[in-house]
Amino acid sequence: MEAKRPFQDGTRTSAPWEVASLDLNVGERRLDIRVDFQRGSSLPCPVCGKQSKAHDTEARTWRHLEFFQRAAYLTARVPRCNCDEHGIKTVDVPWARKGSGFTLMFEGLIMMLVREMTVNAVARLVGEHDTRIWRVLNHHVDEARAKQNFSKVQTIAVDEKSYRRGHRYVTFVMDLEQRRLLFGTVGRDGDTLAAFVEELKAHGGEARQIQDVCSDLSPAFIKGIQKHLPEAETTFDRFHLMKLMNEALDSVRREESPSTPGLKKTRYHWLKNPVI
Ligand SMILES: [Zn+2]
Repeated sequence: MEAKRPFQDGTRTSAPWEVASLDLNVGERRLDIRVDFQRGSSLPCPVCGKQSKAHDTEARTWRHLEFFQRAAYLTARVPRCNCDEHGIKTVDVPWARKGSGFTLMFEGLIMMLVREMTVNAVARLVGEHDTRIWRVLNHHVDEARAKQNFSKVQTIAVDEKSYRRGHRYVTFVMDLEQRRLLFGTVGRDGDTLAAFVEELKAHGGEARQIQDVCSDLSPAFIKGIQKHLPEAETTFDRFHLMKLMNEALDSVRREESPSTPGLKKTRYHWLKNPVI
């Protein structure tokens, strides 16, 4: 049993589960860890937690973190219990979530990697198809997002970004106090603000709590803010104001340059000098 202890700890198996055998395939650089439940043990119904004996079992395999630079797989016969109230149900295992082919620790590794590189790069690195990586990512992002609370958000910024070579746009809404992204959606019209308000409500907030909005001078955003965020004051952001000021200044310089020789070759002096 002592030789199996590191694997018991490393796979987070605990009673009634135990590591039953280890099979190292040197040629395939693969380690198979077989986990089993103790004979005669009772298992909890996944709905109510009531203990009952195993009704039958089904063999399952999960990819786990590497051991000794070898791909490791956990295999177990997963029991179905027969609950008086809920009938025959597959029990939950402590090392993986329902429906996943990876252990929780392997999913943890994936979630760490996707913060640093693209999903395609992660898929190549761990030798899995990218759709499996996306499934893990989507599950954990949805789960974390469902828990987010927007009830204290008061100050937001709205901005658009183009993608697909500038042919399409997405709008993002940021929380300026907590410095976090609240919402993103395709499009850049006033309706994107209506969609944001729906998201706000879904996370415990309401339109009236938004006091300040920072946006560019897009008429669609201005209209959308007035319509959907009734208590909000709008501040136009400095970047877009400066851009407009520079364009206006440059057009005046061009117009006056023929009659005012001193303005010749001064374009960059105007652009570089602070205006605000
Ligand atoms: Zn039950």
